[in-house]
Amino acid sequence: MRPGWQADPVTVPPSGARLLLVEDDPDLSDMLAELLAEEGYAVTVARDGQAGLHLGLVRSWDVLVVDRGLPAVEGVDLVRRLRGRGVVAPALVLTARGTVADRVEGLDAGAQDYLVKPFEVDELLARLRALLRRDHLGADAAELSVGSRRFIVGESRVVDGDAEVILSRREGLLLETLARRPRQVFTREELLDLAFDSAETAGAVDTYVYYLRRKLGKETVETVHGVGYRLGSP
Ligand code: CA
Repeated sequence: MRPGWQADPVTVPPSGARLLLVEDDPDLSDMLAELLAEEGYAVTVARDGQAGLHLGLVRSWDVLVVDRGLPAVEGVDLVRRLRGRGVVAPALVLTARGTVADRVEGLDAGAQDYLVKPFEVDELLARLRALLRRDHLGADAAELSVGSRRFIVGESRVVDGDAEVILSRREGLLLETLARRPRQVFTREELLDLAFDSAETAGAVDTYVYYLRRKLGKETVETVHGVGYRLGSP
């Protein structure tokens, strides 16, 4: 574990992995929530698509489990909307239907996997572990893209052709957090949680965004008004 980071929930799946379960069937959602919690997931349940959309956008998740048939916002549409807003957590869609067309539609919407009801719980657990592992494959990347530049993570160094900029450890952690999820909008609180020491306040996030912009250009970090920050797209 790197200093300043919380225990990476994905390194040893599924312990502590933040899972959003969007399922309107109360019996099934209660049963799944209890079972997933026993397996070590930090489970939050939304009972309709609107609540799922809201929670999906305002908090960070390691994995999403979304029922297809939902009131308010239907499951595949929910995944599509979350992807459109930059949510990149892997998603597994639960569906009563299992035709090839349904599967393709779900995957086209941005879901990574798909399970037909009724399913064996062990099958669900295995699929979730696989999703978390797959999602984690990119997490040890030694280099990340920052626009047209390369960020050498271990050296806190941003390379742009022949030019390079050295970042402080804290600047590097902040940039790394943003660059690992380039489409995700992070709140200040999330960034504080992921890239800062516990003693600091949300104001520190603004300060280090300012430092990053001063070193790398204003467009490096985008302000999303009323929400927070994400990696810029120069
Ligand atoms: Ca349903």
